[in-house]
Amino acid sequence: MRVTNSESKNDQPAITPGLDGCQVCRQLRFEGPEDREYSIVPAKGGGWQAWSAALLRLFQRIGAHPTQAVVINQDALTQRYVQVLIGHGIAHAEASSNVYLMNDSRITTEQEELLAALGWLTPAETEDDPGKMPPNWYLPPIHGDWLMLVEMFVATMVGIFGFDDRFPVGIRTFAAENPCKACSWPDES
Ligand SMILES: [Zn+2]
Repeated sequence: MRVTNSESKNDQPAITPGLDGCQVCRQLRFEGPEDREYSIVPAKGGGWQAWSAALLRLFQRIGAHPTQAVVINQDALTQRYVQVLIGHGIAHAEASSNVYLMNDSRITTEQEELLAALGWLTPAETEDDPGKMPPNWYLPPIHGDWLMLVEMFVATMVGIFGFDDRFPVGIRTFAAENPCKACSWPDES
């Protein structure tokens, strides 16, 4: 995704070209943050309230930076997850849809109604298309309201997806494929 193990000289790009070969994205990927992965059991540290406050601090810390992806899951219990592309003060949030979920992890019709009631928009497609955004439940673009983002995530994870505070919750952060503002948010420039 970012730096390749290239044997090339200086006149060859040592960084994987972005979706459009954007020079700004290339530089940002070169400077960009490493992948990070945390795993926390909320019940061991103040429950969902403290966990939510920590997630808010994470979004406040990275929200204005070049775009990163944040994926939150609870692998021990379910395939369900929430994720967000966040950067330059804007966020695109998603909640997993049945396009990606199997067996017990699939979302019931009743749960889908709850997602819609909470404000999630219905997935745009019914199948995965690698060239497009994933067909997950999604929110309209969020402009800096990270508290709302955290509240939506926690309400979804705990209230609908069945995340349990006694089990580890994984948080993975990594640089977006195209982290510059113009590539991340072409409709916002
Ligand atoms: Zn770019």
